Amino acid sequence: MARLFEYQGKEFLKDAGIAIPTGEVASTAKEASEVAARIGKPVAVKAQVWVGGRGKAGGVKLADTPEEAKKAAKAILGMEIKGLPVRKVLVEEKLDIEKEYYVGIIPDGSWESTCPVLMFSTEGGMEIEAVPEDKIFRAKVDYLKGFPFYDALDMASSAGIPNELLKGMAGVISKLVAVFKKRDCNILEINPLVVTKEGKVIAGDCRMSIDDSSTFRHPEMGITIPREFPWEPTDFDLVGWGIEETDLRGSGFVMKMTLDETSPGFIGFHAIGGGAAMIGMDALSRVGLKPANFADTSGNPVGSKIYRVAKVVLAQPNIEGYMLAGFLIANQEQWHHAHAIVKVLREELPKRPGFPCVLLLAGNKEEESLQILREGLEGLPGRIEIYGSEHVEDSDFIGNRMVALVEEYRKEKGR
Ligand code: GDP
Ligand code: MN
Repeated sequence: MARLFEYQGKEFLKDAGIAIPTGEVASTAKEASEVAARIGKPVAVKAQVWVGGRGKAGGVKLADTPEEAKKAAKAILGMEIKGLPVRKVLVEEKLDIEKEYYVGIIPDGSWESTCPVLMFSTEGGMEIEAVPEDKIFRAKVDYLKGFPFYDALDMASSAGIPNELLKGMAGVISKLVAVFKKRDCNILEINPLVVTKEGKVIAGDCRMSIDDSSTFRHPEMGITIPREFPWEPTDFDLVGWGIEETDLRGSGFVMKMTLDETSPGFIGFHAIGGGAAMIGMDALSRVGLKPANFADTSGNPVGSKIYRVAKVVLAQPNIEGYMLAGFLIANQEQWHHAHAIVKVLREELPKRPGFPCVLLLAGNKEEESLQILREGLEGLPGRIEIYGSEHVEDSDFIGNRMVALVEEYRKEKGR
């Protein structure tokens, strides 16, 4: 599910007639103070990152003057929230909050529903998971019909919304469903939905994810990779996606698993299939190593695609080893992998003598493939170990071999 930032989501709410605070996004403290000056009122400065709980983490600060907004932005732009660096802030008119509500829509695939489900609660501001069941009002949404104003009125009044707010609340609920459909959302949430001291209903936050297969319909969203990402795609991720996007023969999924490029213990990780990937990560974590990236070449990809993936994996500057995690007997001709890995390591290992490589490959034409690896890699200046199906279930063994080679390599480099 491709995610959008709060400031992007709010524009789509506004476009549908839902009130949002006046505001603009800024990437420097100076810009933030200029936005605050244009707004001409006290503002809220809010970190734009793809996680919730920014408020608690100090990522939302109120400022009375442009000078204060500058300070707040400076502090927030230097922060990491749940491991994610903050690159932008939203500076918007501060709301005088009377009460915070919750409204959100998610698809419910259970057989009783198989439709989007709308949730509304008078207990906003906290995560919906923390709200007691009896305070959440739910309704199934007919995707074709939407959620008409009279249904929204029903929902708001059964939640006990006072009369003078009913129309405003119901309007937002009904329009939110329209946005959900128009923008092909998978999650759309306003938390808090704010009622101000003057009695206006305004979206205080917006969380929005859209269906990956619909991104081509939404150039307005500027989504670079139609996938769920924990952070904005890095250059590494964009190169990785380029491999997948330009070659549909088998899968060549590759993405970063960390933004930490300085700590020790990261391994260039290359799995063959999803199950193998899980076992491989387990093998690494049990010996105190970590995958720098996720990569999966399965579904019978061609050698050139595997070559591109392995090349990208090895391009990571901080890795202390490379693991080919073929932990399942793959139903694909493994010599494509063998040829690709030979080519990559012949290019890469002379640049990094002694580099640890543990290669586990099992599947069709295994003997021939292992032979290709053995012959092709002979005499290279790396620490290369090659294993086949005799170790396919042996994650302890493979993990221990990896860490043993990494330790030798560190010693040799005096680390
Ligand atoms: P989240 O913690 O990542 O979900 O970020 P939110 O945008 O939901 O902000 C968290 C909390 O900060 C909200 O529940 C509000 O209590 C508070 N907050 C956010 N914006 C404003 C504002 O403009 N005025 C006031 N008074 N509080 C705000
Ligand atoms: Mn929120």
